Amino acid sequence: MDYSAKIARNVASIPRSGIRDFFELVQGREGIISLGVGEPDFVTPWHIREAAIYSLERGQTTYTSNLGLLSLRKAISRYVGEFFEVQYDAPTEVLVTVGVSEAIDLALRALLNPGDEVIFHEPCYVSYSPSIVMAYGSAVSVETSKEDAFSLKPEKLAEAITPRSRVLMLNFPTNPTGACATLEDLQGIADLAIKHDLIVLTDEIYSELRYDGEKHVSIASLPGMKERTILLHGFSKAFAMTGFRLGYACAPQPIIEAMMKIHQYSMLCAPIMSQNAALEALENGAPAVAKMRESYHQRRDFLVKRLNEMGLSCHTPGGAFYVFPDIRGTGLSSKEFAMRLLEAEGVAAVPGSAFGASGEGFLRCCYATGIDDLRVAMDKMERFLGTI
Ligand code: PLP
Repeated sequence: MDYSAKIARNVASIPRSGIRDFFELVQGREGIISLGVGEPDFVTPWHIREAAIYSLERGQTTYTSNLGLLSLRKAISRYVGEFFEVQYDAPTEVLVTVGVSEAIDLALRALLNPGDEVIFHEPCYVSYSPSIVMAYGSAVSVETSKEDAFSLKPEKLAEAITPRSRVLMLNFPTNPTGACATLEDLQGIADLAIKHDLIVLTDEIYSELRYDGEKHVSIASLPGMKERTILLHGFSKAFAMTGFRLGYACAPQPIIEAMMKIHQYSMLCAPIMSQNAALEALENGAPAVAKMRESYHQRRDFLVKRLNEMGLSCHTPGGAFYVFPDIRGTGLSSKEFAMRLLEAEGVAAVPGSAFGASGEGFLRCCYATGIDDLRVAMDKMERFLGTI
């Protein structure tokens, strides 16, 4: 059968993730040091795992409310109120989702009519553009540059806005660059969103992972922004809970209601054991998060120093757990660099081009890897540079 005619055109048109393609090459090979997949190397803290086990022991194996357990939504509302300084009503303005991934999909499907433009800054997380296309939107990327530490400048955003712009997607700290926006830039972006009546979809999944004592500021907390912002957050990164598949969206009630309708008919609810674990994470997880952040901080400083010393210019990212060194001086494309590094030294890092055209010439190295492996990886990378 000719399946190409059977697959929906908008799905056929999207590429597979460049990260997946690259890591299929790595799978099954012995002795590889991976700076690849953006996943904490820490196991979920024990007290959080225990909460999931207790959930099973108590026989809590049922569906929950479509919106999620009210006790969890109340805890999310408290946490978001304290951490992001934005108040959301737990019964009506919080939706528990299967990871931030589902929340992105729900938000886009709830907001977009075919052809509506969604602006996002690039390099960016691999799912943004495909998620927009799958929701029948039109993806409009705004390139960010090393000179601006990969942050989104309001002037550049202004150039991308058209009468068809409906949604602005933000992600600070950013995957893959670790970029953070200054308060001044965030304010400039908020002013544009208000002026052009845009809904802002802000993915703040790395917000606890800010370094050098910097405080994370959400665009949702700026004056006039709560009413036009969907704040997405989850447990995968800061709490090392990727496998629990748990996230949430906070937004004005009519938007949560629209997202909930899609969630209700497609996912029904997030798993109850993960919701119980997330409740424990919010109530008692802060010390473990602080410990992991401290470890990431040390690793970030180590990598930035070593990369710059070996001649790969690398800005110091303010957050997340990625560094994004500039490999243009080697004369290799980012894909060639990554492939040859893998072949020669067994070190896997992701070509910057996997995160959009403006990532070309860079390499994403994830430092959610133990410091001993990072040391070996840097020695190997330096040796590799000496051969090209
Ligand atoms: N958003 C960003 C920016 C990410 O980097 C990731 C995972 O790497 C996700 C969302 C997906 O998160 P979740 O595990 O909550 O679906």
